[in-house]
Amino acid sequence: MPKSGESMRLFLAFELADVQRAALDQLRRNAPLRLKQAARWVPKENLHLTLHFLGDLPREKLSELKETLRTVEAGCANLALRALGRFPRRGKARVLWAGVAEDEALRDCHEQLARALTRLDLPLSAAPFTPHITLARLRPPLEYAELAGWLAEQASWRGPRTLVSHFTLFESQLGVGVPRYIPLARYPLAQ
Ligand code: ATP
Ligand code: MG
Repeated sequence: MPKSGESMRLFLAFELADVQRAALDQLRRNAPLRLKQAARWVPKENLHLTLHFLGDLPREKLSELKETLRTVEAGCANLALRALGRFPRRGKARVLWAGVAEDEALRDCHEQLARALTRLDLPLSAAPFTPHITLARLRPPLEYAELAGWLAEQASWRGPRTLVSHFTLFESQLGVGVPRYIPLARYPLAQ
């Protein structure tokens, strides 16, 4: 077994454009005071859309992973921000997120990556893929009633739309406070 320090916490994600980060930041500024205070908001520079969370991978497997990711052939995806939601879907809210419009290329990219990761025997999340951008975490979780009004008000909110031309392999370094996400490699998507 690798000792701690010999593994890396990894995930695959789409990065956001600056206009999208700015729009989400603006949205946060308009949140009700109660929510502003109760939530641990993701800093603008850390906002992203997770495609797959890989968890801890032994360091010596990194080059094989990178090689496999290079073979993934997916097309550019549309990333159009829309509306807000929360996890879990029932009961007290733990995560507040921004949604994205349905996009076939986004789903395809997720699927192709799933196949590639399976070839490497990496475990995948069994949960259905709900593309989202985590905006804030609520600890302790917040009664849904505290959120419901604002979520309903924002149901028709639309943010900027971009064409995503690459996906990114990130290392996540957790410590005290805000996690550090370090881009290790970027992989182009076909035009
Ligand atoms: P923290 O855990 O300190 O709140 P974080 O969740 O942003 O920070 P990580 O736990 O390293 O940092 O997660 C990196 C990314 O992977 C985030 O987008 C997170 O939502 C996602 N992620 C983490 N764990 C899982 C999981 N078990 N299933 C699916 N996605 C996950
Ligand atoms: Mg986490």
